[in-house]
Amino acid sequence: MKGLRLRSFAKVNLGLEVLGLRDDGYHELRTIFQTIDLHDDVVLRRQPRGVTVRCDHPLVPNDPTNLAVRAAEALRRHARIREGVAIEIVKRIPVAGGLGGGSSNAATVLLGLDRLWRLGLGRDGLHRLARTLGADVPFFLLGGTALGLARGDEVYPLWRQVQGHVVLALPGIPLSTAAVFRRQDAALTPRENSSRIFYFVSRDLEGEGAWRFLANDLEEAALVEAPALARQVQRIRAVLVREGARLAALSGSGSTYFGLFSEAHRARRAQSALAAAGFEVCRARTLSLDRYRRAQS
Ligand code: ATP
Repeated sequence: MKGLRLRSFAKVNLGLEVLGLRDDGYHELRTIFQTIDLHDDVVLRRQPRGVTVRCDHPLVPNDPTNLAVRAAEALRRHARIREGVAIEIVKRIPVAGGLGGGSSNAATVLLGLDRLWRLGLGRDGLHRLARTLGADVPFFLLGGTALGLARGDEVYPLWRQVQGHVVLALPGIPLSTAAVFRRQDAALTPRENSSRIFYFVSRDLEGEGAWRFLANDLEEAALVEAPALARQVQRIRAVLVREGARLAALSGSGSTYFGLFSEAHRARRAQSALAAAGFEVCRARTLSLDRYRRAQS
């Protein structure tokens, strides 16, 4: 059976501020999300009952703990649907790399099943369910360049959509998101007044050098947590900066380190230099809100 074939895109965090610990145990964040055109393929096929998943990646579970299955089950319950769905995922987004692969798959399944089951919920109707699945899932209902507040699950598209070429270096060092946040907590000083992302947005509107304001607060904690990563990041960063990256940063809680370039030839040179230095590396383009929507319809 043919089924509904969808693309499920990755994200990077162009900046991330950890403002403190909330009463509910989550962190209060301020981040700028950016979708890129690196993507998994997700195929949804109707079946009489039950939700099943098949993914070709050894680190992704083929069972009910898969975030894509949890999304389908949640929507099925919510909309009281009896029929089932078979989900097939072709993984290209590196797993557990801070690129949001699982969250993206979950949002893609919600959007896809809304169409397949003709529920008519749309992005706003799916938002509440998306939040229950994970803090990054609501962003993937929108895509493009967006500001994420609260747990990162309160998402607002930015007026100016960032355009550029992204080079991703994958150091292949596993990092636990929880461990990175624990280290960050130990070092956390109250940051309510931090306004770097505000500076970025306002300077960006003026067309001034806005990029220097962006950084990832989790970077230091991640590098202390994994000293082997720290050594690699030093080398990766040096190449990205030398080749003219506007921004070089860790994505999410890592361990993917990326550079954002205005020009394709600089990105290609950085990619080649990193590959020659032995890093696993890939290149992508930023995906704006409009292009994200079009890619999904
Ligand atoms: P986070 O920062 O939310 O941990 P990430 O972007 O670093 O996410 P993911 O690729 O989403 O990393 O994978 C995180 C974990 O989720 C992995 O250990 C993986 O086994 C599990 N997982 C469950 N479902 C999926 C899925 N559909 N795709 C990828 N990973 C999944």
